[in-house]
Amino acid sequence: MLNLQGKTAFVFGVASEDSIAWAICQQLAAAGVTLYLGYQKRFMSRIFQLKDKLPQIGGFYPLDVASDATTREFFEAFEKEHPGKKADILIHAIGFAPRACFDRPILFVEDSDINTAMTISANSLQRCLKHALPYLNAGSSTVTLTYAASNRFVPNYGIMSMAKAALECWTRELACHLGPEGHRVNAISSGPIRTIAASGVPGFDNILDHVEANSPLRRNVNQEDVAGATLWLASPLSSGVTGQCIYVDGGYSITMVPQSIMNE
Ligand code: NAD
Repeated sequence: MLNLQGKTAFVFGVASEDSIAWAICQQLAAAGVTLYLGYQKRFMSRIFQLKDKLPQIGGFYPLDVASDATTREFFEAFEKEHPGKKADILIHAIGFAPRACFDRPILFVEDSDINTAMTISANSLQRCLKHALPYLNAGSSTVTLTYAASNRFVPNYGIMSMAKAALECWTRELACHLGPEGHRVNAISSGPIRTIAASGVPGFDNILDHVEANSPLRRNVNQEDVAGATLWLASPLSSGVTGQCIYVDGGYSITMVPQSIMNE
């Protein structure tokens, strides 16, 4: 196990025990990292239950990345309780698109719904880092979570495909902007995992079945697989890595023609 004793992380995106961010919290905590969580108020009661399970949680404050002001409030609340304290790791595991993005053909999704999905799921990486920067130690590591629909068609993923493409672009841009000061920014492209956010994608179970049958590892990845790679990106072991999109998907992204057609 990596030893990150004395390090501090901001973790955004815990909504339940199934959240990928919760598995990341557990692995960071096991490595000795102190955690400060940003949570959406609608998940407040669940967060309050979870906090007792990890003594390494140093605090948790509301976070809504839908606006600049509410994003700033997280850091103001953090500073008020911990003046002068800074973090070494920022986990951005945030995604959302309104229901109306999925219940009609993509051509007819309204501008306002597209904008909401893009703001929360992609542009919020820039928003979070902008406000986080004064509270980040030199040489910090930021990790965001993306999905392969950013560059290949996945049925029903819709507007979230555009959001993930933009998120990966933000990752590269921000890595180049912050790299000269030693800060790193990377993305992990996770295979499909059953979570609250995933349950919003129609036909998600069919995608799980397809990936399990056709990925090189012949299984779906889980939260722990993603958390392990995140721990590596958060640690000095990956000190030369920035601006990258690392696939944690059982190898599915390298395939094109499924082996199974040879049996038909
Ligand atoms: P999840 O539902 O547990 O997490 C999504 C998080 O986004 C929640 O904690 C929610 O509170 C947060 N969020 C949404 N809107 C927000 C807002 N306005 N302000 C602050 N936080 C907000 O689901 P998850 O699958 O763990 O998702 C985490 C990330 O992983 C997302 O970016 C998702 O797109 C990405 N991802 C998930 C999968 C998958 O199959 N589950 C695959 C690839 C990438």
